[in-house]
Amino acid sequence: MQENIIIADKGPASQTGTWQQQLSQAVRDPAVLCQRLGLSDKWLPGARTGHQLFEVCVPDAYVSRIAPGDPGDPLLRQVLPLANEALSLPGFVADPLEEADHQPASGLIHKYAGRVLLIASPACAINCRYCFRRHFPYSENSPSRAQWQEALDYLRADTSIHEAILSGGDPLAANDRQLAWLVEQLEAIPHLKRLRIHTRLPVVIPDRVDDALLDWLSATRLQKVVVLHINHANEIDQSVADACDRLKQAGVTLLNQSVLLRDVNDDVTTLATLSERLFEAGILPYYLHVLDPVQGAAHFDVSDEEARKLVASLRDLLPGFLMPRLVREIPGKGSKTPL
Ligand code: SF4
Repeated sequence: MQENIIIADKGPASQTGTWQQQLSQAVRDPAVLCQRLGLSDKWLPGARTGHQLFEVCVPDAYVSRIAPGDPGDPLLRQVLPLANEALSLPGFVADPLEEADHQPASGLIHKYAGRVLLIASPACAINCRYCFRRHFPYSENSPSRAQWQEALDYLRADTSIHEAILSGGDPLAANDRQLAWLVEQLEAIPHLKRLRIHTRLPVVIPDRVDDALLDWLSATRLQKVVVLHINHANEIDQSVADACDRLKQAGVTLLNQSVLLRDVNDDVTTLATLSERLFEAGILPYYLHVLDPVQGAAHFDVSDEEARKLVASLRDLLPGFLMPRLVREIPGKGSKTPL
């Protein structure tokens, strides 16, 4: 039977408006995503099923890097909902990292010695289908300024904590006034040395790295590390490289963590190209995570054995400083576990 192909309409080639406007105009309808990318209508029922479990959200700046008419595009695979997200498979659970057991205060997760994670924003600029927090109860972890006091008191009281990690959602989805306020509170805690920000926003909407962000980032006394989340070299276009430049000029150390994903980056050439492209953009590869077994994402899973073989082959191609560390996060362990 002939498939109906929807003509691709990728919208404007370059993005306009502030990052907030770009975020508010993100594609949030699976039919629009399929239509914009010229996918045959056979993808739509599955996309609608997955969307009901975890909503579609893809900003134009990211859509513009996806090849039209190619359902196998590695960027599309990360954002297109599929019917098999509804499958329940043994071992794939709602909270694979058991984060709910490590929350001494609202918005604060303390799992590892010396550092804590603050849920600075419940929102993301993109909904990645493999996200280990796709079922996270964000509504219970979105503190107001007054509610942050409990987390800040916890930080003040524990002098062994030297690093605050802003996470989410995506912490840079919060507005700069709120972030500047939070960072001001953090830098007033004498034993805190480092501010780490885990974000995908500079990749998804590079215009997020604007003057308002750079102002508070440049001003803080804390050492700054931004850990980006990039899984494929095609995610790094010139606008992303320019955003990385701006971050580096603000004194930020740039690292990247990737997730090893079936049919996205599970081959050695793709991983080597990713490391090379990261370094060209001034980013050091840091971690390659195996998938956290979150319910709805089993189709992205790559076995440990295959992951180890891939990384062994990668070592033959890359200098050591471009090799990400292959790790798994195991609930209850005091650090990531090397594979
Ligand atoms: S938390 Fe990160 S991986 Fe999860 S949906 Fe948001 S941007 Fe994607």
